[in-house]
Amino acid sequence: MSEKYFYHSLLFSVESIVFGLLAILLLQYYRGLGRQYVKYWMLSLFALSIHQLSLAIDALLVEVSITAIEKVILSCFIQFSLYFHLVALLFGLYCATKNKNISKQVIYYAFVFCGLLSVTATLLYGFELNEVYNRFYLRESLPAFMMGCGLLMAVFFLYNSSVDHFSARIFMGYCLFMGLRYILFSFLSIVLITEYWFKELTEILIFMDMGAFTLLAFLMLIWMQGAERSIAITAINKAQYLGKHDPLTGALNREQVMEKLPIIIEEAEHKRQTLAVFLLDMKRFKFVNDTYGLKVGDLILGEIASRLDGSIFLPQVIGRLSGDSFVFVIDAADKKQQAAAIEHLHGLIRRPYHIKQHKVLLQCSIGYCLYPEDGVLAEDLLQKANLALAQAESQNVATVKYKTGMQSHGRRLLAMEKEIRDGFDKNEFVLYFQPQLNLLTNRLEGFEALVRWQHPERGLLQPASFLPDIESLNLFSELDSYVLEKACQAIARWQQQYRRKVTVAVNITAVEFQDPLLIENIQTLLYKYEIPPRCLELEITENIVMTEIDTAMNTIVVLQNMGIKVSIDDFGTGYSSLAYLRKLPIDKIKIDRSFIEEVASNDSDLTIVKSMVELSHGLGKRVLAEGVETEEQLRLLRNIGCDAVQGYFISKPLPEEALKKYLTRK
Ligand code: C2E
Ligand code: MG
Ligand code: MG
Repeated sequence: MSEKYFYHSLLFSVESIVFGLLAILLLQYYRGLGRQYVKYWMLSLFALSIHQLSLAIDALLVEVSITAIEKVILSCFIQFSLYFHLVALLFGLYCATKNKNISKQVIYYAFVFCGLLSVTATLLYGFELNEVYNRFYLRESLPAFMMGCGLLMAVFFLYNSSVDHFSARIFMGYCLFMGLRYILFSFLSIVLITEYWFKELTEILIFMDMGAFTLLAFLMLIWMQGAERSIAITAINKAQYLGKHDPLTGALNREQVMEKLPIIIEEAEHKRQTLAVFLLDMKRFKFVNDTYGLKVGDLILGEIASRLDGSIFLPQVIGRLSGDSFVFVIDAADKKQQAAAIEHLHGLIRRPYHIKQHKVLLQCSIGYCLYPEDGVLAEDLLQKANLALAQAESQNVATVKYKTGMQSHGRRLLAMEKEIRDGFDKNEFVLYFQPQLNLLTNRLEGFEALVRWQHPERGLLQPASFLPDIESLNLFSELDSYVLEKACQAIARWQQQYRRKVTVAVNITAVEFQDPLLIENIQTLLYKYEIPPRCLELEITENIVMTEIDTAMNTIVVLQNMGIKVSIDDFGTGYSSLAYLRKLPIDKIKIDRSFIEEVASNDSDLTIVKSMVELSHGLGKRVLAEGVETEEQLRLLRNIGCDAVQGYFISKPLPEEALKKYLTRK
């Protein structure tokens, strides 16, 4: 054997060992970090190692006569391992840049393609030993062409990818250089195959390729190092981002808002801009969480943040201050712009949310103030916007702008909150009971429980003087639960003392009626005080029913099935229609006092009340007239067929001690 071939064979063997070792190194790396691209590159190096080994054997056998079959098999190996090396290299690049995995099917097809190509090419020349040209084309030019195309494809791919670490650029340079080298070679080989110098060049290229492959293996290692560093940097950035942003919505969190707002204010001062600081609070978001689950609630909050973020008003700050409240700051020079922004924000929130097959509708309350008109400090502006928001929420208005004086109202409310909570704890709230008279039987129909506050300093307070504060402070739920419990206690007491099962009607507010826990609470109370459900009646206003008709309907049906009656309070003052009420399984309609007041002196009021009674009866509902103060009113109501009455003429609301005569007399 000539020295040259032996020398080649030795070099190929050394290379084969080096690539094999590097493949093992990558395997360890893949096992440790589990990155997919490392797996493909490991396979690529492994294929290269096989390729070099086949070349080493091939060089050894150049001058040894072996059978055609053996030659074909060896050539097949040489080609297949080279194609496989290329494909695995490209797969690795794809995974590394796209961060996606490659489907098993694609891998399978690529494998089959490499196999078919190498087998076909080898068979075409393998048995035709005299066809020197074909042999050269199929053995050298074709693989070079495939390698060139593959590497240039990689260049194109890397160029368009978003990976920008330094090693990616070196890699691209390598692929470009080698890609061009292969393509050029494949074309030149067809034209210059007979030239002597070309033969010399081919010899030199063998050594150059050895160096290039080795370089490639090291480039892979450098890439991996660069990629890991950039992953670490991304992770650090993400951690920093999360520290500053609300992880749920990506909006700024409270601290960041407090950091950023002063900067925006300073800029606005320089540019003499007016800033509008909007605070948005989602109405009844708790209801969304309770109904659709926290996960849906979270997704909706994320969606809100991204809608705000994409706003055409180009917000300077978007933050989530707490649960369902967001801050939105824009540069809004004049009133017209502010009004447009308000409308825009309401529209943004009102657009339906389609989350996991649910279509959720939301509304928000907005409170806002202006820089520099209402304040120049970030903290001050947020506080003032918050006061405006509190007012918007308590008065159920969509938007409120901050006005001077709101602050003192806010302070008063704060003091009030403590007093009211103390009042609950110390049982300062007491129930008065107003009898309801059944006009058919002339007997007691039941009592309406009406709350009073026995204030330690201010004496007995009527609901009108404290209910607005309770509403502003969102304490209605607490009040209703308190009254429900006191009413149940009273029913139980009378049951024991007088052996009478008296019905007590309790006023329930909208908030409480929409609370999914209401039914559970009532069941617990009935069980705890051992009272029959028919002794409890709930009074709700028509507006409760109308704003959330489906929920209200469900709740009323459940209550009715439990045996608890529901009546509509203050009928005629809200915005419902009897046609709607027909669908609801309610028991009684309570005509508001304002209609009864002049029923005796005003013909049109009498006509209205009369038609209300007839219509209600037509729908199968009973009718109670509220605020009956005179005998004349009572007579008229009796004549037009009213079922029951309640009012000062029968009795004012009385404390429990004064009820004895009603409870002892049948
Ligand atoms: P409402 O449920 O319509 O209660 C009837 C109100 O009319 C009571 O006023 C009652 O004292 C008054 N009233 C009854 N008969 C007459 C009459 O012949 N003439 C006049 N001028 N007034 C009469 P009150 O107790 O001040 O309650 C006012 C409102 O406060 C109630 O209206 C109800 O909406 C609310 N409220 C009272 N107690 C509670 C309670 O325990 N919980 C809740 N959530 N709301 C309550
Ligand atoms: Mg009532
Ligand atoms: Mg009423």
